[in-house]
Amino acid sequence: MVKFSDFYRPGRLAYSFEVYPPKDETGVVNLIAALKRLAVFKPAFVSVTYGAMGTTRDLTHDLALRVLKETGLVTAFHFTCVGADRDSVKSYVNRLKTAGINLIVALRGDAPVLEPGRTYVRPANGFSYANELVAYLKEIDGFSIAVAGYPEGHLEAPDKETDLRNLRRKVDSGADVVLTQLFFDNKDFFDFVARARKIGIPENVPIVPGIMPILNLKQIEKITKMCGARLPKELSDNLAKNQNDPEAMRKVGVEHAIGQCRELKARGVPGIHFYTLNRSESTGEVISAL
Ligand code: FAD
Repeated sequence: MVKFSDFYRPGRLAYSFEVYPPKDETGVVNLIAALKRLAVFKPAFVSVTYGAMGTTRDLTHDLALRVLKETGLVTAFHFTCVGADRDSVKSYVNRLKTAGINLIVALRGDAPVLEPGRTYVRPANGFSYANELVAYLKEIDGFSIAVAGYPEGHLEAPDKETDLRNLRRKVDSGADVVLTQLFFDNKDFFDFVARARKIGIPENVPIVPGIMPILNLKQIEKITKMCGARLPKELSDNLAKNQNDPEAMRKVGVEHAIGQCRELKARGVPGIHFYTLNRSESTGEVISAL
């Protein structure tokens, strides 16, 4: 059985590429072509995200299998348990395992935005938090599990320490690796790792930084608002200066990501998880610069 921990070895920097299911077949064809270009960098794995509340359930399943078959790259799938009950989780994950994918990024996901006065109720026989999903996947057996970590704290968490204790619950439940939310200031990541080790997340559980080479200001403002990551002022000013030149803006994103990755590499991170936005250019340029 392939395990996430197999990829993170001393003296090696493992790259992974996160992609999302495109809306149509043209998008899928373009994505597969992008991944084939990125294959020259010998990624440890490609991971396919899962839409909020299971909105891309079948698309994620189908895309993960196509990535595996058409690129030959090791593939992982994301799964969010919000809105799902245990039986449906089991049949979904087992279907992918039978088809040859046993690497899962296990998440709680986000509840839908409800009208005022209505609160989200988790399904009977469902899960409240990702640590419960991790424990359940361990019971089903045959999966290697990655979980999400938040260098700047998760948006809902009352404080960073509480959030870290909740991360530890996921690790204690059986997660093999932590992939982090994107961040733009490495200090947040180094501080997060130090605090994680201090509260007892063992050294043999790799904490892998998530890096997104920014494409444009509007898009990154939307993304950071949704996930709670901070966009440093100097970086957003630089992007703003190039608002009318998409290529110049993309270059600002690439240069920033190169700076982050050089330092992360020099400080010995086990790997880098790239949020590729389904494109090969920027991620390729960043890795080439390393
Ligand atoms: P949890 O770990 O359950 O944490 C959620 C919140 O609850 C946190 O504030 C935490 O501190 C708190 N908490 C956790 N456990 C407990 C507990 N036992 N008791 C009390 N409080 C607790 N979203 C998607 O929809 N699809 C994707 O494919 C996807 N991929 C992602 C990949 C990565 C690498 C990352 C970093 C995020 C991804 N997300 C994805 C976003 C993620 O779904 C959201 O951030 C979501 O709000 C939290 O999911 P989680 O698994 O981190 O939840």
